[in-house]
Amino acid sequence: MSAVETRDGVDNLRVLDEALKRRTIAVISHPDAGKSTLTEALLLHAHAIGQAGATHGKAGRRATVSDWMTMEKERGISISSAAIQFTHRDTIINLVDTPGHADFSEDTYRVLAAVDAAVMLVDAAKGLESQTMKLFEVCKRRGIPLITMINKWDRPGGDALALMDEIEKRTGLFPTPLTWPVGESGDFRGLVDCDSGQFVRFHRTAGGATIASEETVPAEDATAIAGPAWQTAVEETGLLREEGHRHDESLFLSAASTPVLFGAAALNIGVRQLLDTLVDLAPSAEARADTSGVRRAVNSAFSGFVFKVQSGMDSNHRDRVAFVRVCSGVFERGMTVTHEPSGRPFATKYAQQMFGKDRETVDMAWPGDIVGLINASALRPGDTLFTGGPVVYPPMPRFQPEHFRAVRSTDSSKHKQFRKGIEQLDHEGVIQVLHSDRRGDQTPILAAVGPMQFEVAAERMANEYRAPIAFDALPYTVACLIDAETAKVLAKHSSIEVTMASDGRMIALFANEWKLRTLRREHPELTLDSVSAE
Ligand code: GDP
Repeated sequence: MSAVETRDGVDNLRVLDEALKRRTIAVISHPDAGKSTLTEALLLHAHAIGQAGATHGKAGRRATVSDWMTMEKERGISISSAAIQFTHRDTIINLVDTPGHADFSEDTYRVLAAVDAAVMLVDAAKGLESQTMKLFEVCKRRGIPLITMINKWDRPGGDALALMDEIEKRTGLFPTPLTWPVGESGDFRGLVDCDSGQFVRFHRTAGGATIASEETVPAEDATAIAGPAWQTAVEETGLLREEGHRHDESLFLSAASTPVLFGAAALNIGVRQLLDTLVDLAPSAEARADTSGVRRAVNSAFSGFVFKVQSGMDSNHRDRVAFVRVCSGVFERGMTVTHEPSGRPFATKYAQQMFGKDRETVDMAWPGDIVGLINASALRPGDTLFTGGPVVYPPMPRFQPEHFRAVRSTDSSKHKQFRKGIEQLDHEGVIQVLHSDRRGDQTPILAAVGPMQFEVAAERMANEYRAPIAFDALPYTVACLIDAETAKVLAKHSSIEVTMASDGRMIALFANEWKLRTLRREHPELTLDSVSAE
């Protein structure tokens, strides 16, 4: 396959067509809501894999293609993001996995910058959990359209109408169910297709390993099969209709309403309906706004931005991958692009698509696609790449760190590896590295949003860089962005530490909010800004 050459090097119609065919999404949820299970089920339905949970992980937990690091398997959480591409009904779905644990929310937020829509997966028994709420808010603030999937309906849990109320009250999103469960949670008989009013009945398969076959039954025959559960479902959907809970495209696309689906990912129930919803309702790759707010048309020359950098993704590939979201034009492997922050040319010789830990060389990618650039050591999250006219996409959101530790090498012969490793983790945005005159370069400070980031850093330093590290606790919980003048004043306070990040930002560390408030009161002239930026 090759692009048909036109005046500007790209076949415009082909780019538009390919962009229209793409859905780039993330699944966001609280840990344990079933994200890995759903990912596996989506792939199974899209025939991207033969059997869900085909490989078996430790402690009886299924190892899925979307999580591969040892730590992820041991803890049963996703730490790193995998980008997986599959096809459903001629539509290409780019599924970007996100870490669910709050400690890695910075990573999750970066992923959300790269997607066009998200699936919010909710455990029917638990409703909207804390991490779910946080992510709902980010999506809403960023205007990301959300599709809600209520999972685990096969288990006793919440009441469907009460869950709709909860979504509406707590998120402000107007829920518009596309399917409705027949039978209470724990007694899952099937689904009402809210559009046609028909009954969708499923035939379960052992352990949900293969696609549950489904059968559509006309409404008039449903009572004979599902009994009173069908009547209840019909009454409830009638009530919702009367109250106007119908899908509305413009409300959905402006993140004011959320289509809702019910299912059981582990049994592969409701998964086909979710895939159809992604194809039919989720937005395709569209023009993206640059920093000045100008939307760059998808058929402009190539542009994209790095949303994640990761190395050591598995023991066979100890290299470094920069994940790029293609925003416009066509990406062709080997093309030379401009790296916006440095203005330097960047050759894209090694471009791959990830499929869990398997990789495939990618020769072409289109708007909405995620490309992994291998050994791209110059690239950082937020960097724009382009050909043709220059473009700068907005920087990645940055979070307020709340955990701080001094880090040192425990093996003095590994000084070089230590420096290199720490620099690398900083570059990837795994943790923020701060240097202070008080400590010197041998013991930088690591700043994190959540303490689990320290564990990841220690593990990667020991395994990838063979430079074991130890941490020393620090008495700080608050960080502020300061200017040079403020730094001079703060340097006189022994309980405040003035540090510098690798990008030149000056950051002051305080024991607590109280200390900061006092300082603000006593010195209103000082610059003490938030470190986070969105
Ligand atoms: P994640 O942390 O969000 O990736 O969640 P997992 O996919 O690892 O699932 C957490 C647990 O919930 C696992 O034990 C799954 O087998 C289970 N689970 C996931 N989906 C369902 C479902 O539809 N029904 C039931 N009963 N269990 C499920």
